[in-house]
Amino acid sequence: MINMILKNSLHGAEPKGRWFEISAVEHCNLNCAMCSHFSPIAPKEFISLEQLAQDLKALYRLVGDNIDGLKVLGGEPLLHPQIAEVIYICKKYFPSKQLLLFTNGLLLDKMPIHFFDACKKCSAKVIITPYSPSIELSAKWILKLFNLGIKGDLSCDGQREFHKIPLDSTGSQNINWNWYEKCFLGGYCSLIQNGKIFPCTTVCKIAHLNSYFGTNYKVTSKDYFDLHNSELTYEDLKEFLKQPIPFCRYCNFNNFSTGNTWRISKKELNEWE
Ligand code: SF4
Ligand code: SF4
Repeated sequence: MINMILKNSLHGAEPKGRWFEISAVEHCNLNCAMCSHFSPIAPKEFISLEQLAQDLKALYRLVGDNIDGLKVLGGEPLLHPQIAEVIYICKKYFPSKQLLLFTNGLLLDKMPIHFFDACKKCSAKVIITPYSPSIELSAKWILKLFNLGIKGDLSCDGQREFHKIPLDSTGSQNINWNWYEKCFLGGYCSLIQNGKIFPCTTVCKIAHLNSYFGTNYKVTSKDYFDLHNSELTYEDLKEFLKQPIPFCRYCNFNNFSTGNTWRISKKELNEWE
């Protein structure tokens, strides 16, 4: 029940496959325990503009104008030295779609005018998540963005809204349709990474956990959709996103918790398992 409530509060009656997420960088300047993108243990990695352009071109071929929009996240996306160009590329391929940029806000004071110009010209909405270290500046920046003619908003309460789906390294969780339907991540905001579409951040970013702790969570070709296979259609993608993937066997929803208080990561495996 709690999963359903959470799913409904996060996504409403939103169908799957309408929003797509891009990770501008993998790392972050704010190491939150339980980060669902594994950013505290991720290496410094920046999306290449060429790869982004290739992937968005392929995404447009696949979905056309049928989607709601793109979300740019990280890690912390403002760490990307060419974040303005990332925004322009998103706008180039999806000019009429919503464009949201999520940030913890800590770098906003240091951003060059070029970045704010890009947000304004591309009608990108800047969504700030207020965590302990960024609460005051978040409120200040909502007003500043408004004065700059840029749409801004606050995201969920970063202080209290950490959700944890503990990973089960044995991979023995029961996968079925009902259960996947309760997952508030799968298919609602699919991630695009290196020519692949993943239904959730867990499977997309699990390589960081494996590299850092030496774990062995396996991702197979059945866990993602091949963005560059020109024989596949948007209907195929929607079908793919409707169903659980083999990787779901690692997610232990019996021990799911929500409303976890924000804290700095100690980079310990029990933050994710
Ligand atoms: S600010 Fe966001 S991306 Fe960065 S560590 Fe915290 S939850 Fe993860
Ligand atoms: S792997 Fe499956 S169950 Fe786990 S978060 Fe992703 S979609 Fe949900």
